[in-house]
Amino acid sequence: MKVFSFPRGGLTYDDPAVPSRNSSVIAFLPALSVIPLVQHSDESVTSLVSIGDTVTEGMLIGKAKNQNSVHIHAAVPGKIIDNIEWNDPDGRHNKGLVIRMQGAFERLGRKENNFLNDGMNRQELQQILTDCGIVEMEGSGRPVADILLALKNEKKTQTLVVRCVFDDPWLAADYVLCKERLKEVVEWSFIIAKVGGKIGRVIFAISHREKSLGETMLAEAGQYDIPSTLVLTGSKYPQRNRRELELVLRDYEKKEGYDFGHLLVLGPATLAAVHDAAKYHRPILERYVAVGGSAVRNPQVMRVRIGKRLADIFDECGGFINTPCRIAVGSPLSGKTVTNLNEPVTKTSYAVFAMLKSQAGNFPKRDCISCGECRSVCPVGLDPEELYKQITILHSKCGSMDQCHGCGCCEVVCPSCLPLSDVIAGKISEGAASAGGTRA
Ligand code: SF4
Ligand code: SF4
Repeated sequence: MKVFSFPRGGLTYDDPAVPSRNSSVIAFLPALSVIPLVQHSDESVTSLVSIGDTVTEGMLIGKAKNQNSVHIHAAVPGKIIDNIEWNDPDGRHNKGLVIRMQGAFERLGRKENNFLNDGMNRQELQQILTDCGIVEMEGSGRPVADILLALKNEKKTQTLVVRCVFDDPWLAADYVLCKERLKEVVEWSFIIAKVGGKIGRVIFAISHREKSLGETMLAEAGQYDIPSTLVLTGSKYPQRNRRELELVLRDYEKKEGYDFGHLLVLGPATLAAVHDAAKYHRPILERYVAVGGSAVRNPQVMRVRIGKRLADIFDECGGFINTPCRIAVGSPLSGKTVTNLNEPVTKTSYAVFAMLKSQAGNFPKRDCISCGECRSVCPVGLDPEELYKQITILHSKCGSMDQCHGCGCCEVVCPSCLPLSDVIAGKISEGAASAGGTRA
C-alpha cells in the first residue's frame, strides 16, 4: 500500500522519555481541582456558582457567552472553595474555580442512561454538543457544534477525515485511546457523517507505522453503509498538521480519481467525546494524557479528570528523579511551558512532561552560523534564518511570516539554539528574543 507524505521538509522525531503506548491507567480522583473558565478564544464564561456552593459531578458551572465559547462543567462533585486567576508564561490570562472534592459521584461507576435514537438529526446533535460543552480535544479546542454548523453552509461534497497520524511520540495518549475505544471512534465517525449533511465518505488517515491499527479500523467500518478509505500517511513530523495532511489527501484524491470536496478533520479523542455526549449526555469529565519526560520516575498514559493539577499528576507518576529544567503541556516540539504546577489539565492537554537538562539541550543561544538546517526542514519552504533576522535585527515583518504554522522544526534543528519558531510565529516578542532565551 502506497504511503503519502508531504513533499518537503519535516523531521523524524523519537523520544525515549515518552510513556509506553500499551494501555492507560485511571488516575486517582483529585482532592482539589482547578476548573479553567477561559476558553480557546480567550473568552471567559459566565460563572454560575460562587465560593461555598456545592456542585455535582458533571454539573454546569460556567455558561458560554457566545457561539465561540462553550459551557463548563464540574468534573468532580464537591464544594467551590476559591476563585483564582493566573498568567501563562506567554502572557495569557486565566481564571479558574477551585473545587474541593466531596460527596457522591453521580456518573462514575454507575450505569448511565442511553439517550441515543436512530432519528437524530444535525440540529439535535449540535444542541447536545453545545449543552455538554464538547470541543476539539486538540489544538485550540474549537466547539464541535460550531464546526458542524459550518458544514451546513458548505456547498461542496464533504469528506470526514479521522486523523490518526502519530508523527510525534508525544501523541501516545491519542494512540492508546484509539486502541481502547476503537469501536466508538469508528461508530461516531459514521454517525457524524450520516447526520452531518453531505458527507459522502469517511477517510481513516493513519501513519504507516500504525498500518495494522488502520486496517482494524477499516474492517470495523465495513458494517456502515457510507464508503470508507484507508490512507497511509508518512510518519515524519508535522504530517499531522492540517496543511501537510491536506496536501497528502489531495495528492491521494488526484491519483485515485476521487472528489473529496471539503475536508472535515476530527481526531479520535474528539470522536470519543462526541460519543459520550450524544449517547450519555456526558460532558468532558476526563481525558487521556501522556505523562513523561526524563525527570519523571514512572511515565504513563493516564485517564485524568479535567482540572487535576499537574503537581498531583507528577506525584502519581512517582515524582521527579531530579529537578526538571522545563515542564510543559503538549509536545516538546510545540508545547506550552508551565511555571506553576497548580495549573490544571484542560480538555486539550494531550501530554505533560518534565525534562532534565540532559534531555532539554537547554544551551544558551549563539549567533547564526548560516548552516541552512532551518531551511531544509521547513515544510512550508520558508527561510527561518532570514525571517528571524528581519524580526530581531531589522524589526520588520514580511508577508511570508503568516505562512508559518509554528511547527517548531526549524527551532529543533538550529545548532545555535535560536528561538526561531517562537519568534516567527509571534509567541515571544522580538525584544525578548534579542535579550536572550533558551530552547527546549
Ligand atoms: S539553523 Fe540556526 S544557525 Fe543554521 S541557518 Fe538557521 S538560524 Fe542560522
Ligand atoms: S515553525 Fe514556521 S518557519 Fe519554522 S519550520 Fe515550522 S513553518 Fe517553517
